[in-house]
Amino acid sequence: MVHRTARVEVRVSSGQRERCFGLLRSAGDVWAVLLQANRWRRERGAPGLVGYQELCRELAAAGPGVFGELSTVGARSVLRRYSDAWFAAAARANAGAARPGFPRRRRGLVPVRFYAGTFTLDGRRLRLPVAAGCAPLWLRLTRPVPYPPDTVRSVTLLHQGGRLFVEVTAELPVAVYPAGQEPDRQRVAGVDLGIIHPYAVATGAAATGADPDGGAAGLLVSGRALRAEHRLHLSDTKRRSRAVAARAPARGQRGSRRWKKTRARARTVEGRHARRISQAQHEAADAVVAWAVQHRIGTLVVGDPRSLLQHDAGRRHNRAVRTWQVGGLIAKLTDKATLAGLQVHLVDERGTSSTCPACTSRVPKPRGRQFRCGQCGHHGHRDLVGAANIAGRTPGGNQRPPDLTGAPPTHRRAGRHLPGAGPSRRDPRRTHLHTGRGSRGRPGPPWPAPPLGESLASTTDEDQTTPAHRANVA
Ligand SMILES: [Zn+2]
Repeated sequence: MVHRTARVEVRVSSGQRERCFGLLRSAGDVWAVLLQANRWRRERGAPGLVGYQELCRELAAAGPGVFGELSTVGARSVLRRYSDAWFAAAARANAGAARPGFPRRRRGLVPVRFYAGTFTLDGRRLRLPVAAGCAPLWLRLTRPVPYPPDTVRSVTLLHQGGRLFVEVTAELPVAVYPAGQEPDRQRVAGVDLGIIHPYAVATGAAATGADPDGGAAGLLVSGRALRAEHRLHLSDTKRRSRAVAARAPARGQRGSRRWKKTRARARTVEGRHARRISQAQHEAADAVVAWAVQHRIGTLVVGDPRSLLQHDAGRRHNRAVRTWQVGGLIAKLTDKATLAGLQVHLVDERGTSSTCPACTSRVPKPRGRQFRCGQCGHHGHRDLVGAANIAGRTPGGNQRPPDLTGAPPTHRRAGRHLPGAGPSRRDPRRTHLHTGRGSRGRPGPPWPAPPLGESLASTTDEDQTTPAHRANVA
C-alpha cells in the first residue's frame, strides 16, 4: 500500500469562496493562537504545549464557536500540523541544525485537512464539515478525483494564487500484473536525468543477464516544451517587473489598489507556471514508467546528479540548474514507479556521461547530442550513453552497461499540452512572427499607419461586423 496525493481545483460561487477562505482564515487564527500561547508560556518559563493530545484538550477547553465556521475536526488538523512541524524542528535541532525552523511565523491562511469519515465525496461533489449550526458546505470539483472513492483517506483545503484547491490523499495498492507480464526484477534500466531530456532511459538484456529475447532498448523524453515554458516565463516576468517598477510603492508605504492588482496578477502567473511545469514533469515520469512496464523492467537505476550541483557555476547556469528541479523529477519518478511495482535505486552519476559504455575508456564530455568514442568508435545518443552507464552501476548486478548500437530509441515529449508546444496552440506570451505584436493587449510596436488616400470604407473592410453595418459602409 502506498499513499498518493492529487490536487484538484474547486469551482465555487462567490458565497462558497467566501466561506472557504473563512475556513482557511480561521485555521490561520488557530495557528496564531498556538504561537501566541506558547510564546507566553516560554516567557513564563513554562514548557511549551506541543503534543497533539494536550493541544486537543486546550481546544476543547476553549469551547465551541471560537473559530468561526471551522469545525473541531478542522481545528484539530491545524493542531496536528503545528505539533508535527514542532517535532520535526526538534528533531532537526537535536541533529545539530543551525536553524531548525520551529513554527514561529503567523500565517493569514492555513490549509485545513479533513480525515475520512468527516467529509462526503460524491462524484465531483464534496461536502466539508463545518462548525455545528452552520449551513452544510458543498463544493464542486473541476475534475473527478483520480482515485477510487473507497481509497480516499483525507482531503485538504488550500489556496494558491487566489484559487482554491483540495488535495486528495488516497491509500492505493501497488499494481498487480497478470502472470507472465509482471516486471522482472532482473531486468534493469538506467535513467539519466537531463535538462533537454528530463529522462533518458536505457536497458539491455545482454548486460543484465535477463531473457535474451528482451533486447536493448532506449527511451528519450524530450523536455524542450518545458524549457520553452521556463524561458517564456522568465522573459514575461522580467517584462512585467520592468513595467511596474516605476509605480512600485516605497518600502513601508501602504499598497494601492492598483499595486494589489499587480501583485495578484504576478501570483496568478507564478501559480500557473508552477502548475504547468509540474504537470509536464508528471507526464514525463508517466511516460518512463509506462515504457518500463511495457518492457517488463523491474528495477530502475537513477543517476543522482545532486552531489555534482553544489558548486557555483555562474548566474545563468545556476538558474538553469534551479529550474531543472531535479529533486522533483526524482521524486515524481520514484512515486510512480513504486505504485507500478518497480524498484528504484539512486546511484552517483559522476562520470557516466564521459565513459564509453563499450570499452569503458574515458571520453571528453561531448558538446552536442552525439557521443563518439575515440578508442573503439562506439557512438550513440549522449543521454542514452549516460543512461546505459548508469544501468551498469546496478548495485550487486553486472557492471557492464548495455550496448545500444542499432536499437533506435523511443521518443516521447513532455509538456505537449503547454501553449506554444504544438502548432495549434499559440502562446500569448510569445510575440507573433508576422506582426511582431504580443496578443492580449500587450504593447508591441504600433500598427503601420494606413496609406494616405485610403477611404474609411476600405479600412473597415477588415472587421467582419454585422451585415447591416457592412451595408451601411457600402
Ligand atoms: Zn569505446
